[in-house]
Amino acid sequence: MDHTSDQAESLEKAHLRWMQEAMLMAEEALAASEVPVGCVFVRDNRIIAKSRNRTNELRNATRHAELEAIDRILSDKDLTPIIVDYPLSDTILYVTVEPCMMCASALRQMGIQEVFFGCENDKFGGCGTVLGVNDKLEHPKHPSYKATGGYCRDEAIMILRRFYVTENTNAPVPKAKANRILKTEILPKLRDIV
Ligand SMILES: [Zn+2]
Repeated sequence: MDHTSDQAESLEKAHLRWMQEAMLMAEEALAASEVPVGCVFVRDNRIIAKSRNRTNELRNATRHAELEAIDRILSDKDLTPIIVDYPLSDTILYVTVEPCMMCASALRQMGIQEVFFGCENDKFGGCGTVLGVNDKLEHPKHPSYKATGGYCRDEAIMILRRFYVTENTNAPVPKAKANRILKTEILPKLRDIV
């Protein structure tokens, strides 16, 4: 193996390692009966914030994992000592599910350096699946950022399925689902089949 592919391999391993940390946060969300999405923000090769979805707990649909962590980073004087235009320009996000359009836009406004995600967000994905808020949409001010999916994708899908096959006790009227069977087959993304 040559030097370049050696480096690429160790980089891939690092991405997977950070994504495993994000998966732990998704597990924590699942244990708390939240839609299991977790994330970590990495700066200078260390985690500066980790978070998970808290929308049910706080009864607030904006409390996605990414925004929870961003709020904490911005309110921490060590992590954000001065107010700058793009406080996340040296920070990388690892999140188990593709950021939704709301979070993808917030990340762009904060100048995030780069994003890695697990599985696509078919309904609300803001990093290419529904809308390319990260780099396809023109913006007069905020710089685009790169978003790459597929890291721990199977695990990210399976934990979502584990959540959706159990009763959502927070729903006003819990729906009885006839076919609560945990599916284990995972189909590749369409754009992977080329
Ligand atoms: Zn979101």
